[in-house]
Amino acid sequence: MKYVVCVPDGCADEPVAELDGRTPLEAASMPVLGALARRGEVGRAAVIPDGMAPGSDVGNMSILGYDPARHHTGRAPIEAAGRGVALASDQVAYRCNLVTIADDGTMVDFAGGHPGTEEAAAVVSALQEELGGDGVRFHAGVQYRHLLVAPSDWLEADCVPPHDLSGRPAVWPRGPAAPRLQALMDASRSVVSSFGLATNQVWLWGQGRAPVLPPFVERHGLTAALTTAVDLIRGLGVLAGIEVVEVPGATGWYDTDYEGKRDACLDSLAAGADLFLIHIEATDEAGHAGDLGEKVAALENWDRRVLGPLTEGLDALGPWRLLLLPDHATPVALRTHTSDPVPWLLADSEGGGPGGTYSEAGVAPAPVVPGHELMGRLIQQH
Ligand SMILES: [Zn+2]
Repeated sequence: MKYVVCVPDGCADEPVAELDGRTPLEAASMPVLGALARRGEVGRAAVIPDGMAPGSDVGNMSILGYDPARHHTGRAPIEAAGRGVALASDQVAYRCNLVTIADDGTMVDFAGGHPGTEEAAAVVSALQEELGGDGVRFHAGVQYRHLLVAPSDWLEADCVPPHDLSGRPAVWPRGPAAPRLQALMDASRSVVSSFGLATNQVWLWGQGRAPVLPPFVERHGLTAALTTAVDLIRGLGVLAGIEVVEVPGATGWYDTDYEGKRDACLDSLAAGADLFLIHIEATDEAGHAGDLGEKVAALENWDRRVLGPLTEGLDALGPWRLLLLPDHATPVALRTHTSDPVPWLLADSEGGGPGGTYSEAGVAPAPVVPGHELMGRLIQQH
């Protein structure tokens, strides 16, 4: 038996007036998904446990079968694992965004005008030179997404994700470690501004110590692999001992290589992996951008470029089961993540499910199950 998990990041949404009251999932033409739902099973899952922030780190940890309430320590240490940055037990990792904050304190852009990775690396290198040391180290990442590793007494602070502040007054850190964070963010202004880019300072958030995830193969007796363009998902793979397959054309954007990810899945399963997870970020980016057209287009790309050829390829490999769900909703009207339960779809090559409709309304009557229990349902280890 082969198993596939499909994660259209943030694809769940709310009814939209421009779509005549339909959601993007309802408006998109997705004949393959519709057929899978009719012969499979659909339901609702709480991928974000009560009281936890609705981030991709939390939602994808659930999807991989680990209860975030038990295993999640923060977002940044997961990204650190994805970038090969190891954390010692006396260290904490922070996500370090390059952001743009106006003179009046408004968070103008949590992505700092999307600097190029190379120009951002020069900024981060200058930050390390000017402000690093004493156990504090900046690690350059991709575009606006970087990391800061600090001693563990930097841990205790309430930090607001910058994408939750878009167009609103910045809410600065609070708590015992807040003065240190504030001092570093304040000091970053002259360094970052000197580069003449749209970004003018760093924003620290998502901190935590390294989490401990029991290896996936030991928990389930199955070998697993995944593909993603996002460090966070890569990091979950590293922490859970799941092989991370790099697809050269994967961008994390609308133009990502859907076919490349699909083929990586089929190749990996054909080569012996038991389970493969395909993560595609485009739906989430469209939600953050408030771009209805791109969200619908990304869903249609999933159907035409991934699910259709994927299920044909799986048929050629033998019996299979497939689970599809997002890691949270990213409604285009809100342009940020929500904690609402999300629709899931479970399909078996043999059919045999009660059948249903894969949409927010289609699963509304279903009871809400914890997201981390779906992995057991997929591989039939309840
Ligand atoms: Zn996400």
